[in-house]
Amino acid sequence: MPAAPQPVLSPRRRTRQIRVGSVGVGSDSPVSVQSMTTTPTTDINSTLQQIAELNAAGCDIVRVACPSQDDADALPIIAMKSPIPVIADIHFQPKYVFAAIDAGCAGVRVNPGNIRKFDDQVGDIAKAAKDAGVSIRIGVNAGSLDRRLMEKYGKATPEALMESAKWEASLFEEHDFHDFKISVKHNDPVTMVRAYQLLAAEGDWPLHLGVTEAGPAFQGTIKSATAFGALLSQGIGDTIRVSLSAPPVEEVKVGSQILQSLGLRPKKLEIVSCPSCGRAQVDVYKLADDVTEGLKDLTVPLRVAVMGCVVNGPGEAREADLGVASGNGKGQIFVKGEVIRTVAEDQIVETLIAEANRIAEEMDAE
Ligand code: SF4
Repeated sequence: MPAAPQPVLSPRRRTRQIRVGSVGVGSDSPVSVQSMTTTPTTDINSTLQQIAELNAAGCDIVRVACPSQDDADALPIIAMKSPIPVIADIHFQPKYVFAAIDAGCAGVRVNPGNIRKFDDQVGDIAKAAKDAGVSIRIGVNAGSLDRRLMEKYGKATPEALMESAKWEASLFEEHDFHDFKISVKHNDPVTMVRAYQLLAAEGDWPLHLGVTEAGPAFQGTIKSATAFGALLSQGIGDTIRVSLSAPPVEEVKVGSQILQSLGLRPKKLEIVSCPSCGRAQVDVYKLADDVTEGLKDLTVPLRVAVMGCVVNGPGEAREADLGVASGNGKGQIFVKGEVIRTVAEDQIVETLIAEANRIAEEMDAE
């Protein structure tokens, strides 16, 4: 009997399971997508508006910065009204950690090493978080690595990031607190991937993946997709945040697309469009953009093929739920492999959109 085919992706690495409010993080839960608001947290309405946009784009967990007492004062309303779990991002000040827990935040991002340096309340934080069912993220970052490790390693190497994370974890574990996940972020995907690989071998902590300061949208998307793809294909990673110098909704779209591309999140709209070439008899770029824009709000999984000519066109269009193969100023419209009609070139987009919506309604009714 032929051997069963090997799965392309490794199985998820087994981790302990934690909760960030209603969202499970760990190997028993799907990989989740996070982002962070860019509004001042004190501007409650704008922050909630942005959270609603992130939620609509597919964000599972949102983080808000909490650098001042005014921000901490805004947390109760934001935590109460947000449709997705809220994590308060705190550096140094333990009093804001307690405020965030009291405010009903689902999680806190804080490094116990920082707290310990200024005011050793790590045990109190561990107790307060445990009593409230709040989880924590330890966020080790190349840009703020402990001086001791910088001196030992000379720079933020994968080994330095891993050692820092293990030390931070031990500060909670010695207080019998285990509900935390860890990130070890670096702006270089190769260093970052190695750091996560090393850390994954050291314990069963759930891991939050991130390439820090990944850059503007194009570069940051490539860096994040490359690094996350490498790690997730090895089963490493339980929640992801794409960091872009771009609006956070873009981060969520990229994160969702990475998970969809790896088969780790159900696919929604997938446009299969050809790159065009000298045979193209239609403006494929414009056609693909117009169809993508027209179908962007579709919530059902749909594969739509947009092909520039009749060479590969009919074949690809037949493989999709819906498609067009263009040529001679016309477009052959395919649904589930059958040509349903041929329309003039200027009617291709509206016909595809109408057919997609009709198929979506049928799917919704099933
Ligand atoms: Fe070129 Fe036609 Fe292939 Fe598009 S489908 S890349 S136009 S051969």
